[in-house]
Amino acid sequence: MANVNKRALGLGTQRSVIRELFEFGKKRIAEVGAENVFDFSIGNPSVPAPDIVNETAARLIREMDPVVLHGYTSAQGDVRVREMIAASINKRFGYAARPESLYISTGAAGALCGCLNGLLNPGEEVIVFAPFFPEYRVFIEGAGGVMNLIPADTEAFQIDFGLFEKALNPNTKAVLINSPNNPSGAVYSEETIMRLSKILKDRSREYGHVIYLITDEPYREIAFSGVTVPFVPKYYPNTLVCYSWSKSLSLPGERLGYVLAAEEMEDRDEVYAAVAGASRSLGYVSAPSLFQRVCAECVDETSDISVYETNRNILVKGLRDIGFTVVEPQGTFYMFPRTLIDDDAAFCEKAKDFNLLIVPGSGFGCPGHTRISYCVPTERAERSLDAFAKLAAHYK
Ligand code: PLP
Repeated sequence: MANVNKRALGLGTQRSVIRELFEFGKKRIAEVGAENVFDFSIGNPSVPAPDIVNETAARLIREMDPVVLHGYTSAQGDVRVREMIAASINKRFGYAARPESLYISTGAAGALCGCLNGLLNPGEEVIVFAPFFPEYRVFIEGAGGVMNLIPADTEAFQIDFGLFEKALNPNTKAVLINSPNNPSGAVYSEETIMRLSKILKDRSREYGHVIYLITDEPYREIAFSGVTVPFVPKYYPNTLVCYSWSKSLSLPGERLGYVLAAEEMEDRDEVYAAVAGASRSLGYVSAPSLFQRVCAECVDETSDISVYETNRNILVKGLRDIGFTVVEPQGTFYMFPRTLIDDDAAFCEKAKDFNLLIVPGSGFGCPGHTRISYCVPTERAERSLDAFAKLAAHYK
C-alpha cells in the first residue's frame, strides 16, 4: 500500500452512493432515454445563472485591465467586492457589517473549512443536527475536531432542544446549523433561532468560554413564498455566517462564497484572523478574481428559482396522495420523505427498478428517510409520480 496519509486515502477511495447512482443513471439513460430516468440524486441547480451574470463577466473581461482582473486579490478578497457585499447585507437585514468582517471564500465548503480550522483545537466538539450534509463530518474531522450528532426531530426537522441541551458540554466549541436545510428543506424559524441563541449564551457563561454558532447558508435565497430566513448574527453575537452563490446564482463550479464574522463577536478581530490564517494554511487565499467581482455586482440577483417551489408543490401533494409522509420543505430544492419500509438503503435500491434515483437518509444521519433533489425540469417531476406510485404499490 502506498505510503500516504491513511485518512486522506480513505476519503479518496470511499464509495459514494451518489456517484454510483449517477453511473447507474447514465446506464439507464442509454437504455430507456433521459426522459424516462428520474434522477433526484444530485443537488446541482437545474436553472441557468441569470443573464446578468454572463453579461457582467463579459463586460468585466472587455473593460477591466486584464492584469488586475486575472491577478491575485488580497488574500481575504478584493476590498471593493467586500464593500459591495457588506452594503447589500446591511440593506437587506438592517445590519452594520464592515468589509473587514468578510472573508471571500471558495464556496460554502471553503468558508466552512476556514471557520472550523480557525476555531478548533484538537479534540474539541462541534454539534451538528441530523439530518445533515455529510461533508460536515469530513470538514470537522479534517480540522481535528469531533462531530457530536444530535438525532433529528422528524416531526418538523427543527431542533430537538431536549437532546441538544443534554449534548452540550464544556468541550463544545461550536454548533453548526444549516437553514434552509439540505436534505430536509426545513427553515429554522425565528423562535428556533432565539431559543438556540439563549441556550448558547447561558452555556457559554456557565462554561466560561464562547460557543460559536456557524451557520451554513448556501440556500438562504431559496426560501419559498411567505418564508423568512432569520439573519442569525442579529440574534447571537458569536456567529460566523458561511454563504455561497453556488445555488442562488446557479454557479456551483465558480466556487464563490464568504465568511461573515458577526460584528458583536467577542474577540472578533482575533477570530477573523484565525479564519484567515486557517484559510491560508489550507491554501484557500484570493478566491477566483473574476467571479468575486461578478458576484459582488450581482449580489442582489438570483436565478429564476421559482421552478423549485413549483416542483415542491407538485411533489409534496403527489407523494402524500400516494401515501408518503413528507414534511413540507420551506426552501432549497430537497425534500426528505419517510421511506415506506425502515430499511432506507433497500428502499432506494428498489426504487431503481422504476428508474427513480433517490438517496438513502442514513448517509444524512436519519435512517428511514430518503432525499429527493427536485432540481429537475417540472415536467420530469410531474411524470415521476407515476414511478413513485409503482414503487409504493410494490410495498402494499
Ligand atoms: N453546505 C451545504 C448544506 C450544501 O448542500 C453544499 C453543497 O451542496 C455546500 C455546503 C457546499 O457548497 P459550495 O458549493 O458553496 O461549496
